[in-house]
Amino acid sequence: MRIQCNDVNRMEQQDGHGDASWCVFANFRIYIHRIAIYHQLLPTCVPLARLIDRTKENLANNTKNLCNGGMYLDSQFLGVFNRSALAQIGIINDRQLKKSISAGELNRIARNWFALKNANPRVVAAIHIGARVGCLTGCSLFGIWVPRNTGIHYVLPVSRSRPAVTYRDNACLHRVRRLIQDPIYSLDECIKQVLQFHDRETGFIILESAINQGLISLENSRRYLESQTQKKAALSKYLCATSESGSESRVRLFFLLKRTHVQSQVQIDGIGRVDILVGRSLIIECDSAAYHSEYKRYIYDRQRDLAALSLGYKVIRLSYEQIWSSWEHTQGILSKALQARIHRKFTYIRRA
Ligand SMILES: [Zn+2]
Repeated sequence: MRIQCNDVNRMEQQDGHGDASWCVFANFRIYIHRIAIYHQLLPTCVPLARLIDRTKENLANNTKNLCNGGMYLDSQFLGVFNRSALAQIGIINDRQLKKSISAGELNRIARNWFALKNANPRVVAAIHIGARVGCLTGCSLFGIWVPRNTGIHYVLPVSRSRPAVTYRDNACLHRVRRLIQDPIYSLDECIKQVLQFHDRETGFIILESAINQGLISLENSRRYLESQTQKKAALSKYLCATSESGSESRVRLFFLLKRTHVQSQVQIDGIGRVDILVGRSLIIECDSAAYHSEYKRYIYDRQRDLAALSLGYKVIRLSYEQIWSSWEHTQGILSKALQARIHRKFTYIRRA
C-alpha cells in the first residue's frame, strides 16, 4: 500500500545534518501547512480541497503501515513524477502538461519524467541519469540516521553503463536486474540494499535508527539481518530500540564486540540519563555538534560530568568527528581504557 507520510522531525537527525527540507509528515497540522506551501508551487489546475482530502486518506494509511517497513514516499512530496503519476497533481492530458511546462511549473528531466521547481535534487539527479534513489540516500529521505558525506546512492540496472556524471559526484552505484517504476525505493527495499551492499556495521546502524524512529519493528529488523551472511546475522542479537543516533549505535557496537556489558540511555540517580553505560562505571556521551553547541547545554553537560565524578563514574565525551573522522584512533584509546578496567570500578573521591 502506498503512503506519503512520516514524521517531520525524523529528518532533523540527531547529529544535526538532516535534510530538513525533505521531510515527510505524521502530524496533521504540519501536514496541512506543507500542503498549502506545495499548493503554491503546483499547477493551478490542482484544487487544494482535493489535495487535502487525499492527505487525510494517506495519513490513515500511514498509521497502518508504520511498523511493517512497507512505506513509500509519494511523488507529490518528492516533487518528481513519471507520466502516470502526473494525475496526482491534476495533469491528465498532453494539453495540461504542455501548459504546466510552458508556465515553468514543471520541468522535463528525462523521457516521461517531470519535476516541480523545488523537487528533491537527489531524486532529480538519479532520474536524470536513468537511475533511482535507494540504499543510504533512500533511508535518509525516510528520516533514518545516516553518516554525513555518504554521497548519493544510486541504483542502476546491470545493463546500463556507468554515467559519466557519477565519476565527478560523490556517488555510490548499486546494480540491480530491473529498476522500479517509482522515483525512490520503498523503505524496506532501501534497508535491504544497505544490508546487501554495505558492511555489517552500517547495516546495524541503519536498522537501529529505523527501530528507534518506529519505522520498523525490532522483530523485522532481526529477520532482515538474519537473512544476510553469517557475519552480519551475528549482530542481530545486539539490536535495540534505545540508540538515539548512529554515533551512539557505532560506539555501543564497538563495546559489544569487545564482549563488554553495555546499556544504552541509562537513568542514573544524581546524574540523569546518559547515552551509554559501559560495565558498572564508565559513562560514554556521544556529543553532536548541533545539539551541544548551545552554551546552556554546554554548561549543563559540565555539571553532569562533575556530578558523575563525585559518584565515582568516569565520563568519556566523544565528538562526532572522533566517532566518524578519527574512529581508528578513538577505538585504540577506548580499547586501552577497557584494558585498564576503568569500566569495572568506581573511583570515589575522598571527602575533606
Ligand atoms: Zn549504498
